[in-house]
Amino acid sequence: MFDYQIKDNNLLEKVILVTGAGDGIGKQAAITYASLGATVILLGRTVEKLESVYDEIVAAGYPEPAIVPLDMKGATKQHYIDMANTILSQFGKLDGALLNASILGELTPFTAIHEQTYDDVMQVNVKAQLLLAQALVPALLTSNNGSIVFTSSSVGSKGRAFWGPYSLSKFATEGMMELIADEYDNTSLRANAINPGATRTGMRASAYPAEDANKLATAEDIMPLYVYLMSDDSVDVTGKTLKAQ
Ligand code: NDP
Repeated sequence: MFDYQIKDNNLLEKVILVTGAGDGIGKQAAITYASLGATVILLGRTVEKLESVYDEIVAAGYPEPAIVPLDMKGATKQHYIDMANTILSQFGKLDGALLNASILGELTPFTAIHEQTYDDVMQVNVKAQLLLAQALVPALLTSNNGSIVFTSSSVGSKGRAFWGPYSLSKFATEGMMELIADEYDNTSLRANAINPGATRTGMRASAYPAEDANKLATAEDIMPLYVYLMSDDSVDVTGKTLKAQ
């Protein structure tokens, strides 16, 4: 695992948005951030899942989170701008954004890639991330140490047979991260990406249905890097794709 010692109150009084916060890695990141003192804004498309994460955080006595139900497949630029404005008016600042939500699409031979799958994956994994990041960057600049964290994959820096649009979308994700990091190099905002590595979630199970999931790292296991990039210990780190395991 990434070598970082999580400390109590690591994220005290930070305001952090997590996309795809209802399930998998995003759910775990939201709960972990809240447990370390952050107020988390839970963005996702399935309201019941977000409500259950909200309940878990409140029941544990962590700072009360906020819920933003939004389907990134259909959301427009204006949705993200309105959300960023609401965050600023409710919380006064935004310190971090974990852009975690994405879809796998279908794993197929290259010549069999469906145009619709390509469009859907690129919409959710690339265009929506761009529109969201455009709205969030000004909000993150209100923080002394704003951190935007994208989510890549091993297929985001090296193409792999059959991974089709998902792989292309993760290459674009790393490119977007590098572009923002370079453009905001002389500001308080840093941009990085995480490659989570094989992690026991629903997405992993749909990509590898036959494997023994018990042998995989859990979302909880990979949290050190997720916390590090939101904490002030990483203020000098930008433009990097780091491996969580
Ligand atoms: P999951 O499929 O378990 O969770 C993805 C989350 O994103 C879900 O909460 C899902 O919502 C949400 N989401 C999907 N589509 C949309 C949408 N259109 N609008 C809003 N929210 C949406 O995936 P993981 O937790 O495994 O993956 C998290 C990230 O890590 C992804 O970016 C993935 O590419 C990356 N990754 C994961 C690896 C792994 O082994 N698990 C390996 C490498 C990278 P809902 O629950 O409502 O469907």
